[in-house]
Amino acid sequence: MKKFSFDLQARDGAARTGVISTPRGDIRTPAFMPVGTAATVKAMMPESVAATGADILLGNTYHLMLRPTAERIDRLGGLHKFMNWDKPILTDSGGFQVMSLSGLRKLTEKGVTFKSHVDGSKHELTPERSMEIQKLLGSDIVMCFDECPALPADRARIADSMRMSMRWAKRSREAFGDQPGHALFGIQQGGLERDFREESAKALIDVGFDGYAVGGLAVGEGQEAMFGCLDFATDMLPVDRPRYLMGVGKPDDIVGAVARGIDMMDCVLPSRSGRTGQVFTRHGVVNIKNARHADDPRPLDEACTCPACSNYSRAYLHHVFRSQEMISGMLLTWHNLHYFQEIMAGMRDAIAAGTFDAWQADFHSQRAQGDIDPL
Ligand SMILES: [Zn+2]
Repeated sequence: MKKFSFDLQARDGAARTGVISTPRGDIRTPAFMPVGTAATVKAMMPESVAATGADILLGNTYHLMLRPTAERIDRLGGLHKFMNWDKPILTDSGGFQVMSLSGLRKLTEKGVTFKSHVDGSKHELTPERSMEIQKLLGSDIVMCFDECPALPADRARIADSMRMSMRWAKRSREAFGDQPGHALFGIQQGGLERDFREESAKALIDVGFDGYAVGGLAVGEGQEAMFGCLDFATDMLPVDRPRYLMGVGKPDDIVGAVARGIDMMDCVLPSRSGRTGQVFTRHGVVNIKNARHADDPRPLDEACTCPACSNYSRAYLHHVFRSQEMISGMLLTWHNLHYFQEIMAGMRDAIAAGTFDAWQADFHSQRAQGDIDPL
């Protein structure tokens, strides 16, 4: 059976490009992972997600364990079969969403007990249970169970939380065991504090993981602080393993993260925004609900090859959004995911060619132009 491996193929400054190989297929890096929260990338058929250029998507342990449950998905042949997606899937550990979504919860050294936001039922999530659930789902890339404080938080709180997450990382590694073809990623914590990030990285490397995530960012600290942290945090992680920045982000966050040595990212932004009429283009953000689009026969972006831009006018997209037609979320989500994947492909090519600085300058100057003028 093919093993999980990472082949780092080129570097340009701190930016990297390569290929993660898994038994379910290759993941070209830098990679953007669309989020398939409840076993679907909302408003998209799986084949459409693949057509945008996505090599991997993300599933949420917290949502799936509550509904339809990991045991039911396992009985039905695993998450890939259940949702008709045969490429790689990364699952998060559930830790972050328990803290952000569930009702009453209690955090102890053992794990977290909480009430479901769906029906109020009581559940427990521990490192061991998180590993069990992700195995039942059939995840290709499994994430360690961790805890992360919202920022800003004081140093003592950040240190206590990080050290518990490191103990949980060790328990996750032991519970994961040996699963050929599947990978387990550790998650670096430590807020914005350099010494805690260093301590966390050392603890993880000591245990040994197939890849390393930078966790605990994009939780309200702002782009400048996040970039400042990435400037030192990625250097602490092994060069020969993929580095994953969790929950990021906007197009310029993604480009800045790749410039700082990140290989993988995920975010709900392109799909969620697609449903609220917010469109990301080369020239910045377009709000399709604005009246200026009502009579505009031009596409969202004349250079985009997605179905929304190839076949429909701004006027039509404006109309179906205003009329709350389902095709609105479908077309705008497709466009947004297509655009995000185009950014990733552009960065991969530029890094391989050693022209990433020029690519970034062009990316920023196109965005600075803003949307085309109204007719
Ligand atoms: Zn498009």
